[in-house]
This record gives sequence, C-alpha cells and structure tokens, in this order.
Amino acid sequence: MNLCEKCLFWAREDVVIPQEESSEAANAGTGKHFALELIAGVSNTDNVGDSEFANLWRCEDVDARAIINTVECWLRPWIDSGPVYCELPLAYCTKTDTARELYSKSARDYSDLKPGEIPMTIDLFVQTGEATGLVVDYKTGLQSTLDAVGASSQLNVCALAVARAFGLDEVRIAYAIVADDGHARIEEHVLDSFDLAAIAENVRGIMSRLTANPQPHPGEHCKAKWCPAKRVCPATIGLAKATPEFAPMVMVIDDAETCAKVHAQIALAEEFLVGVKAAVKDYVTENGAVQLDDGSTLELVQKSRETLDIDGNDKAVAALKKALGDAFQRAVHVKVSTSKEAIKAATAQLAKGKERVALERAIVEELQTLNAVKLSTFETVEVVRDRKRKAG
Ligand code: SF4
Repeated sequence: MNLCEKCLFWAREDVVIPQEESSEAANAGTGKHFALELIAGVSNTDNVGDSEFANLWRCEDVDARAIINTVECWLRPWIDSGPVYCELPLAYCTKTDTARELYSKSARDYSDLKPGEIPMTIDLFVQTGEATGLVVDYKTGLQSTLDAVGASSQLNVCALAVARAFGLDEVRIAYAIVADDGHARIEEHVLDSFDLAAIAENVRGIMSRLTANPQPHPGEHCKAKWCPAKRVCPATIGLAKATPEFAPMVMVIDDAETCAKVHAQIALAEEFLVGVKAAVKDYVTENGAVQLDDGSTLELVQKSRETLDIDGNDKAVAALKKALGDAFQRAVHVKVSTSKEAIKAATAQLAKGKERVALERAIVEELQTLNAVKLSTFETVEVVRDRKRKAG
C-alpha cells in the first residue's frame, strides 16, 4: 500500500505482474518469518525444536536456543495479551468498509478474493481486548527505506482490516525489526477510531484513482518500495533503455571508455525523453492540470503564432505598400540568396550528366573569383567509420 501513495500504475488490472524469481535475501527473510511464527504459535518455547528453528533461521543448531530465548523476551508480552493469529489473511472491501478472513490454502494464496477487495496477510495479530488489537509486521534484513510506523500505509490498511473484521475501535500497530541474533527494535503507534475512519477514506480515494487508468509515476519509490511491476513498467523500461550500461548517466567524462559509453547512451536518452514528454502530455490531456511542488500547475495551454507570407501574393504586397508608403522598404526585406544546392538544381534545367557537373563547377569557380564564396569552419561530433579505408 505504501507504493500506492506514489504510483498506482502497477496496481492496474491490466498490468500483469511478472513472477519474481526468489532471491537469497527474500528466502532468508521468509525463513525468519516462519521461525518467528513457530515461537508465536506455542505457549511454551521448549516445544520448539532447535534444529527446526536453526534450519529456518539459518543459524547453527548450537545457537538456536539462545536466539529463541532472545526472541521470546520481546514476543512473549504480546502473545500473552490475547488470542494470537499468525499469518492472518484478510480482505478489505472499500465499497462496504468491511473486512473478512480469507480462505487460504497456503501463504499468500488470495484465490478467495472478490472484485473490489484488497488482500493482505498480517504477520501477527493479537486481539488484546474486546475492542482493541495489535498488528505486528516483522522486518528482517537491512531496512534502510522503512517508513515510520505511523506513516506506513501497509500497516494502516492492515489495522483497518482487523478493526473491521474483528469489530475493534483501537488498533496498535508495530514494527518488530529483528536482528540475526534475535534482538528486535520495536516501533509502535496507536490508531483510534478517528484514525481508522481517515485511513478508510484514504483507501477509498486510492481505489477510485485506480479506476481512472493511472499512468506510471517513476521515482525513487520504484526501487525503495520494491515495485513488483518494475520489469513491465514502460517508464522503468524506458529509463533502462536510456541508460543501458550504467545508471545514472554520467556527466563527468574523463576517459575514452566512459566517453564511448555516454555517446551510445545519448541517442537512447533522447528517444526516452521524447517518450517521457509525450507521456506527460498524454497524462495532462487525459487527467487535467497537475499541481507542482512550487504551487504552479502543469496544464495544456492553447497557443498560436502569426507569420507573414507575402511571397507571390501581389494583392497583399500592394496593400502593404499602400498602408506603409515610403516605409514599405523597411517592412519588407528584399534578399537575394543562393546555395550550391540551388545552383545544382538550376543547372539541372540546362544540362545533364557530365555537362551539368562541368557547368556547376564553372559557376562556382566564377563566384570564387568574385569573392562570393566564403569558407567557414565549425566543429561537430559525429561517428567516423572505417578511417583506414577512407585514408587509403
Ligand atoms: S516501476 Fe515505478 S513508475 Fe513503474 S509502476 Fe512501479 S512504481 Fe510505478
């Protein structure tokens, strides 16, 4: 849900999320979640086997008991405070502001989901009182981009769902950021019924924006929030094309290799920018003005420009002469210009083949004697191919 605040393109029905290949880090995190579930699911941790835990936690058997005891220190007060639900699958419906427990055959099995419902799986839910509850999200591994617990849309929606499914007025949400040795940093925040109502309103807004065909909004969140659609998102694919070999594209060029790489990237970057500008225009055309950070708006503006073309239009020239009198010459620039291309075209009317080439050369040489041919030099960067063959 946190990603929804930044971009909704990935959540569109027509965007097919590719199956992610499981990474080593993801597998390690899943194992630790199962290990924590083992501890939360028993009333006495003596019943948790050291080998089974070590296998999930990826530690030595001899270290397992110490880790189990460390985890129990922070987990026990929570799991003793009411009925415990581990890996609880829920579905929240924005239209009815209700939630229900999903029938699920395995972890993250959302096949029971109905249209308009948002699925989620809660690591740990404890019903701490008749109208109060606790929602815990376990975090393992490096958590450099974690939102503050109160600002986590994901936890907020989980809290809303348990509140509606279990009839709660107040839900405490918590991160348990768990280290390899079993210690955890706990961050908590309490949501009352007003907070829950505001979250419901916010989720309704997100769902209604989702029906308006949202376009990609790329930014740091694509990576920081682990967007599942990165591999199929046109914005990210475009960016990858624009910076094919390294990102971001560098501006300091201090060796030939970097220079060659940047040169190869320029055309792709330009092509990408054309696409991005078109996407911005499409978005504004479809959705109307966009508010910018500095208070201004980005909008579609109709503009027109007038140019005068009196060439060959005798009546317009006469009208201009009549209106301007002696000042007419100042308004109209009489200019004679030519070029090698124009001369070539003109000679083609008079001769063909070698004769035409000879005639063209004679005219240019004549102009050279009259000092009418200027030689200027300038620099440009262009691809030079097969210099040896050219020189030979
Ligand atoms: S990669 Fe970024 S822009 Fe594309 S869908 Fe994901 S969050 Fe949106």
